[in-house]
Amino acid sequence: MTEQSIQRVAFITGASRGIGRAIAERLAADGRHVVLASRSEGPLNDLKSAIEQRGGSASVCPVDVGDGAALAGAIESVAKERGRLDILVNNAGITRDNLLLRMSDEEFDEVIRVNLRSAFVACRAAARPMMKGRFGRIVSIASTSGLVGNAGQANYAASKAALIGFTRTIARELGSKGVTANVVAPGFVETDMTKDLPEQVVAHIKGLLAVRDLGKPADIAAAVAYATSDEAGYLTGQVITVDGGMTMC
Ligand code: NAP
Repeated sequence: MTEQSIQRVAFITGASRGIGRAIAERLAADGRHVVLASRSEGPLNDLKSAIEQRGGSASVCPVDVGDGAALAGAIESVAKERGRLDILVNNAGITRDNLLLRMSDEEFDEVIRVNLRSAFVACRAAARPMMKGRFGRIVSIASTSGLVGNAGQANYAASKAALIGFTRTIARELGSKGVTANVVAPGFVETDMTKDLPEQVVAHIKGLLAVRDLGKPADIAAAVAYATSDEAGYLTGQVITVDGGMTMC
C-alpha cells in the first residue's frame, strides 16, 4: 500500500450528535475510517449505519470521556486493532452554567474533567501510535467563551481557554514527529447545547455576528476536515475561530 492509499483512522469523541456527528460524517465522506466515541451506544450505531450506507467506514466505541482509564484504553485498543491512529478530535463537551457566586465545586470539577482532562488523557494515549507512524493530526474543540469569556460560564470558559495552552504545548512537543495539534473554536452553533437559549437571546447573538446567523455543525466540521488533512502539516498550535465574525480577535 502506498502512502497515498492509506486509509487514515480518526477517533472522534462526542460523535453521537451535534458538532461531533457532523465531524464524523465529514471525515468519513473524505475517506477516513471514523471511530465514533461517546456514552450513548444507540445513536452511535445509527450513525455508523448511515455512514456505511453512504459507502463510508466507521466503528463504534462507547466510552465516558470523564473516565480517564476507559478513554485511554479505548484509544489504545483502536490503535492496536487497526494498526494505526492518525487523527484525534477531542470534541465531547458539556456545560454546567452558573454565576461565579453560585457555582459549586462539583459544577466546576465536572466541566474540567469532561472538557479538559479528557483531552489530556486522549492526547497522551494517541501520541505514541501517532509518533510511531510519524503522522498525527489532533484537533480539540474549544469555544469563543474560552477566548473572550461568557458570563455564567466560568468553568466552561476556563476549560476551553486551557485547551489552547495545552494544545500549543503539545504542538511544540510533537511537531518534529509529524504530529500537529490545533484548536477549532466555534461561536454559537445550532445543536442540543444551544437549543434552549431564549428567542430574544438568540436574536441578540445574531445581531453581534457579521454573518447575522448561528453556525451549523457542518461549518465546524469543514474547519476540522482541513486541520486534520494530510495537506495541513504546516498548520500547528493555531486557534481556528469559526464564529460568523463574532470575536475577530
Ligand atoms: P451536544 O450537542 O450537547 O453534544 C455533545 C456530545 O458530547 C455528545 O455526542 C455527547 O454524547 C458527548 N459527551 C458529553 N459528555 C460526554 C462524556 N462524559 N463522555 C463521552 N461523550 C460525552 O454539543 P455540541 O454543541 O455538539 O458541542 C460539541 C463541542 O463543541 C463541545 O466541546 C462544545 O463545548 C463545543 N462548542 C459548542 C458550541 C455550540 O454553540 N453548540 C459552541 C462552542 C463550542 P453522549 O451524551 O452520547 O455521551
